[in-house]
Amino acid sequence: MTILSDLHADIEARVQAIREHRREWLCSKGCDNCCRQLAQIPQLTAEEWNLLRAGLSALPAQQLQDIGARMVSLAHQSSRPFTCPLLDRATGACPVYAERPIACRTYGFYVQRGSGLYCHDIEASVAAGALTDVVWGNQDAIDHRLASLGETRALTAWFSEWITESFAA
Ligand code: SF4
Ligand code: SF4
Repeated sequence: MTILSDLHADIEARVQAIREHRREWLCSKGCDNCCRQLAQIPQLTAEEWNLLRAGLSALPAQQLQDIGARMVSLAHQSSRPFTCPLLDRATGACPVYAERPIACRTYGFYVQRGSGLYCHDIEASVAAGALTDVVWGNQDAIDHRLASLGETRALTAWFSEWITESFAA
């Protein structure tokens, strides 16, 4: 097991524990508000990028080309919110769901000390008095473990370097 696969397993266990008795949990395919309202361009460690790149490599050429165009526009966008360039905007689905970064896996299920739940939809449910028995994951602990994988770079930078190297090969 690598640190990243350990993280995946631990996050999945927490997510399943939260969802276990809540069949109507808000997060589901097609609920893409979080992918459309990013506070910043996603930042990935090299290991996260390597996994994501494997998922991107398996996509049809046209889909990858469309993603590339959105990467370019995102790299030049100066104000938030940002929409993830990987998101399939027609279906609200993530085309690299199995390879998605850690932040996408914890969002909605993990809480950072003093920063709330992030997802406005879930925060609204909590504010309305629901989900009182949920044991949320500890985002600070996840961030600490993720930091041991080294520095992060913007998704747009990883992608641009990959495409440039692919064309040069
Ligand atoms: S975190 Fe919020 S916006 Fe994202 S899938 Fe879950 S409920 Fe939807
Ligand atoms: S990688 Fe997938 S899950 Fe994460 S923000 Fe982008 S579309 Fe959403």
